[in-house]
Amino acid sequence: MQVLLKSRKILYMVFFIILLLLVLTSKSYAKETIENNDKKTVYLTFDDGPSIITDKLLDTLKSCNVKATFFVVGKEIPGREKVLKRIYNEGHSIGLHTYSHNFKKIYKSDDIFINEMLSSQEKIKEVTGYSSNFIRFPGGSSKHLSGSMLEKIHKNNLRVFDWNSSLEDGVKPNLSVDDLVKNSKKCRVCDHRIILLMHCNSNNTNTIKALPKIIDCYRNRGYEIKPIIDSTPEYYYKFKK
Ligand SMILES: [Zn+2]
Repeated sequence: MQVLLKSRKILYMVFFIILLLLVLTSKSYAKETIENNDKKTVYLTFDDGPSIITDKLLDTLKSCNVKATFFVVGKEIPGREKVLKRIYNEGHSIGLHTYSHNFKKIYKSDDIFINEMLSSQEKIKEVTGYSSNFIRFPGGSSKHLSGSMLEKIHKNNLRVFDWNSSLEDGVKPNLSVDDLVKNSKKCRVCDHRIILLMHCNSNNTNTIKALPKIIDCYRNRGYEIKPIIDSTPEYYYKFKK
């Protein structure tokens, strides 16, 4: 009887080890296929413009031969129509970042939020003739996005883009160039697809200085730099249903 129990124990152990090995190998296989099949891509995204520094930022992007994405605030457009046209004419993508960027106002209700995006969409269309469908929540979608809100967003033909890496130049615009470059290498979810959050407010001059180094770093790591376009998969944080 004892021998039988012992051999049964061994059998269970062997079965457990085989199961463990299967789980481990399938995980590493899945990881490998993602890395092999999907090219590493980084999307450089600039929020809050257009501003007085946007022209300089565009010069830098041009000299680095890079196309980026600008999440534009509607109220910043009047008086800066020329620079918005330049963003569009130079082949960068334009996204929506509300009209007022006023947190107390924009998050009062889903409808107010969507209308803020649509007003911005209209203003951009008036200036460039282009109707943008990409949106970015000021401060990110966490704590704001819900299933029903996402449904409304999609009904209005809009798509959400959060980020998984940030320069932290929105809250700390005076960070040194070295610190900004360091931050550009950190990621919330390190993926083959990086959406990097940066800002182009009037005080983000160090971001422009850091940009060529950030671009070089990503290129050296084998990343392709792309603007967000219609076929770019939507990206938003998980939310409670
Ligand atoms: Zn913003």
